Amino acid sequence: MRLRIIPLLLSMLIAALVACSPAASAPQTESTNAINVVTTIGMIADVVKNVGGEWVNVTQLMGPGVDPHLYTATENDVATLTNAQIIFYGGLHLEARMTDIFEQIGKSRPVIAVGEAVPEDRVLSAAGSEFPDPHIWMDVELWALVTEKITEELGKFDPPNAATYTANAEAYQAQLAELDKYAQDQINRVPAEQRVLVTAHDAFHYFGAAYGIDVFAPQGITTAAEAGVEDIRRTIQVIVDRQVPAIFVESSVPPDIVEAIVAGVEAQGRTVAIGGSLFSDAMGNSGTPEGTYSGMIRHNVDTIVSALLGLPAE
Ligand SMILES: [Zn+2]
Repeated sequence: MRLRIIPLLLSMLIAALVACSPAASAPQTESTNAINVVTTIGMIADVVKNVGGEWVNVTQLMGPGVDPHLYTATENDVATLTNAQIIFYGGLHLEARMTDIFEQIGKSRPVIAVGEAVPEDRVLSAAGSEFPDPHIWMDVELWALVTEKITEELGKFDPPNAATYTANAEAYQAQLAELDKYAQDQINRVPAEQRVLVTAHDAFHYFGAAYGIDVFAPQGITTAAEAGVEDIRRTIQVIVDRQVPAIFVESSVPPDIVEAIVAGVEAQGRTVAIGGSLFSDAMGNSGTPEGTYSGMIRHNVDTIVSALLGLPAE
């Protein structure tokens, strides 16, 4: 069981830890010491590892299956964060319960919300929510902007290695360009009227906007709000009206809502399959293809396309 800390104690703990941790500073030229970087979600860690290469030592707070919307820092996390030299997090209210910690720790070192890389006019908002939609990694083109920002920040922090970061980033950006094209080509295989993506929570709006697929979910852009009966009813109606063959569970969200929808559709004398599990807010296990950003997006694309075309799962 991991220890949870109450907010008041938390601020005191951070203050104490910050006071006795070594000052965050850029490594000296020719230093063999890698920069200690801490990230929240795995998708950000993937960028930092690829761009930073041997010059970064990346700790990722949220592993496979972890929901960033609901995540609260453990005592260990606070220690990890106070030992970091740079912190990258999603921002756009993704890690809603860590705002205070980032603010406090940001007083003594760079704490960067990568969501700031996305121009305001490309940040989506959701009906009924005062917050922006934080799921920017679902559009590979936006993730390329995030990669640019991370490259820039690492170079700023560690100028002697800036050229290395830029070179590494070029290789990673080439992968992203290929991935973006792959996603579009695959989604294009699904006839336009069949392009309907139903998931539990609204993590796929950027994906839908980028690759041309209609997106529905009973639960809003954060899993912190519960899906209401009316939201579920509306989703069932979409599935029935548009004859959607399959809907999807997510690796970081309990499957109950999706199961309730399947039952609701069956109650209307129709059937809908669970087309597989998508990686929405967390990557897969490390050491598997889905444990990388590219692998996660490919898995989602392949799972969605197979299920909507009624093909056997790949
Ligand atoms: Zn989410």
